[in-house]
Amino acid sequence: MAGEEAAAAAAAPEAAGPGPAQPPAEARPDGGEAGNGGGYDGKCVFCRIARREEPGTALLPCEYEDLVCFRDIRPGAPHHYLVVPVEHMGNCKTLKKEHIPVVKKMVEVGKTVLQRNNFSDLNDVRMGFHWPPFCSISHLHLHVLAPASQLGFLSRLIYRINSYWFITAEQLIERLQTENAAS
Ligand SMILES: [Zn+2]
Ligand SMILES: [Zn+2]
Repeated sequence: MAGEEAAAAAAAPEAAGPGPAQPPAEARPDGGEAGNGGGYDGKCVFCRIARREEPGTALLPCEYEDLVCFRDIRPGAPHHYLVVPVEHMGNCKTLKKEHIPVVKKMVEVGKTVLQRNNFSDLNDVRMGFHWPPFCSISHLHLHVLAPASQLGFLSRLIYRINSYWFITAEQLIERLQTENAAS
């Protein structure tokens, strides 16, 4: 079930993923808490993957101990990786300025994993986050897809630039940089 929102989001962006329906972000334990971070949620599939408790999902080499990287179980492109903090962190909407370094590290890991897998044209890469409520997994995760020029029809939709359900890593960093203590 490391699944991903992919299929469901494509058909109807509002649809909850294959997992149980989720309450609004505010009602979730991890939703928008001041510290945003730290800890482990045994019900969260990405928390379990990060602690190697999901034998079906192999972790790829990652240069940072506080991040993990693995393949998306439903690849939307020939290369499709997810970069995830080990500690449970809420989705990209709950991030603040102080999280910019984490996001940058996630991007770095994304670039490295592509290079390790012999994909070197970093201009032909799509990296970003699903904007709530269009993510079925609340644990912060960066999608790394390549080649961006070869995304299939559904993937072009699901990971569309300048849509209201997907934000690229650069756009997120910009947004965090200009944000005060909003939300
Ligand atoms: Zn988690
Ligand atoms: Zn996602």
